[in-house]
Amino acid sequence: MPDDQKRPDPRPARATRTKLVHDGIRRSQYGEVSEAMFLTQGFVYDTAEQAEARFLKAGEDEFIYARYGNPTVRMFEDRIAALEGAEDAFATASGMAAVNGALCSMLQAGDHVVSARALFGSCLYILEEVLTRYGVQVTFVDGTDLDQWRAAVRAGTKAVFLEAISNPTLEVIDIAAVSEIAHAHGAMVLVDNVFATPILQRSLDLGADALIYSATKHIDGQGRVLGGVILGTVEFIRKTVEPYMKHTGGSMSPFNAWVLLKGLETMDLRVRAQAATAQQLAAALAGHPALERVIFPGLPDHPQHLLATRQMEGGGTVLSIDVAGGRDAAFRVLNALEIFTISNNLGDAKSIVTHPATTTHQRLPDETKAALGITPGLIRISCGLEDPNDLLADLRDALDLI
Ligand SMILES: *Cc1c(COP(=O)(O)O)cnc(C)c1O
Repeated sequence: MPDDQKRPDPRPARATRTKLVHDGIRRSQYGEVSEAMFLTQGFVYDTAEQAEARFLKAGEDEFIYARYGNPTVRMFEDRIAALEGAEDAFATASGMAAVNGALCSMLQAGDHVVSARALFGSCLYILEEVLTRYGVQVTFVDGTDLDQWRAAVRAGTKAVFLEAISNPTLEVIDIAAVSEIAHAHGAMVLVDNVFATPILQRSLDLGADALIYSATKHIDGQGRVLGGVILGTVEFIRKTVEPYMKHTGGSMSPFNAWVLLKGLETMDLRVRAQAATAQQLAAALAGHPALERVIFPGLPDHPQHLLATRQMEGGGTVLSIDVAGGRDAAFRVLNALEIFTISNNLGDAKSIVTHPATTTHQRLPDETKAALGITPGLIRISCGLEDPNDLLADLRDALDLI
């Protein structure tokens, strides 16, 4: 644009959909429209002096080695940071590399962490088995019970960890209230925001200090690649997370970053359509005679429905149903479905059904499953992008068979 046509700054803030298409772009000298995929492990220096200077301090557009950073990965980090209003982001090889990196980079032996008990299996492994092995003390609480958080967080608690909406029973945690309790003791709040999605819940605005995503879920949203990201202040991302991640090897590949950048472009449209489908299916299935329960934060009978209404836009893209008749009945439903695929991803364009008790949560002892509400009849449903009426007909036909 010629100089005399430049518009004055500051411009009004742009909306999410605009940011998801344009923010973070770094064009090469060729002026490509679509983001370039820099499939390179390293970068060339013009002189030995330049190499020395770059190792001393790399500038904005200067890279050294793909494990430290890469232009395509940086575009992904900048775009998702812009979406969340976070100061900075570090992209990781998977969601678990992000959870592990965020926690291990900031903790040391003797530290105390408080965590919600209802966690994704691998997150539970890190908190229960990895951190404790290195001398970090971890207290688990029922994330929906603020009194338990109050009792567990103490002077010297370094961090609290939680999943904004738990998997697969979809309990909603009050991020603002937990943040207040944690901050009163100087503890940092780390939120795994996967089930809430970057579109439907703004956990940083609610009080969280850092966010973690498995980009494998809604950010890709098409079941193609693994990825993760940690978002927070420049101080946390560059001084704490980056040194740990770049030296321990959990960085994102440039190819995956490119796929995820393209995923971000359509994420707002996809997640809103998926959430509308989840709401429609939950409402239509509520009270179905073959079901003990329909669990969905967007339904008025959900225990944290009011909190969900306050904290989120919509009830999310996942619902769970508890089929009367236990495991055998649940398996008959799964096997009878024609459009839904049996798998364990979520946030995908394809609608997916999962039987947590025998797959994702198989490892848990029966009493723990019972305490978490993971009953033998429970089926988790991740709503995809198919026509919701087709999905509803498929579910009704399958439920009619039992
Ligand atoms: C999938 C998931 C993860 C792990 O992500 P990966 O990309 O599979 O490593 C972590 N937390 C939650 C809530 C998830 O759903």
